[in-house]
Amino acid sequence: MSTYYAVVVFILGTVVGSFLNVCIYRIPNEQSIAYPPSHCTNCNNYIKWYDLIPIISYIFLKGRCRHCGEKISIKYPLIEFVTGFLYLMIYIKYGIGINLLKYITFISIMIVVGMIDLETTDIYFKTTVVGVIAACVFLVIYIYMGLPIKGYVFGGLLGAGVLAIIALITKGGMGWGDVEICLVCGLFLGIKYTALVLFLSFIIGSIIGILLILSGKKSRKDYVPFGPFIVIASVVTLFFGQSILNWYL
Ligand SMILES: [Zn+2]
Repeated sequence: MSTYYAVVVFILGTVVGSFLNVCIYRIPNEQSIAYPPSHCTNCNNYIKWYDLIPIISYIFLKGRCRHCGEKISIKYPLIEFVTGFLYLMIYIKYGIGINLLKYITFISIMIVVGMIDLETTDIYFKTTVVGVIAACVFLVIYIYMGLPIKGYVFGGLLGAGVLAIIALITKGGMGWGDVEICLVCGLFLGIKYTALVLFLSFIIGSIIGILLILSGKKSRKDYVPFGPFIVIASVVTLFFGQSILNWYL
């Protein structure tokens, strides 16, 4: 591990995180993610480049718009930091190479899908389809590198298959968007890790569901989006999957 690469990867993560913020905000509002340039959602003034530096600008602006003083949500620098942090962790775990590229792509897509699901309880096809296409690009690269891809194809089938059966049985309790997310997980992570993601997401979902009901924040009838649990389970699997499987088996 080199400190130089670690810093570069972290900064890259925060810059991508800044773009993910745009996606998370605009996609549910049916806005283009390319146009118009970043602007304050309160006063509509365009934001200058020096106020768009991830994390740092937020601190210098003390969390307020330079023009109108409207409060900027702490969510934005947090997403930037979390993305940078996860990129750094992926670099530390997997080093420089195809896995680094693959997993930072995967994690970026999962952050967008998970955050939108958390905020709107909707999963957008235009986000999951990007995940499927990106996964297929990596599978083509694998073929060129002479690496086996069967495990990833079966991973996709397992993830989508299990969730599709649940969606059919529960008639809407589990949405088709969740099927799409698990397809993406499977294609990126392979069959072994996908089985673990499914297992962990149900455990995490049950624990958080019970906590929400006990704390009175949700009743048994309330809808709790499942996507964020799949995302959390994927992150855990990415970093601790092998250790968990070793321990379990
Ligand atoms: Zn403003």
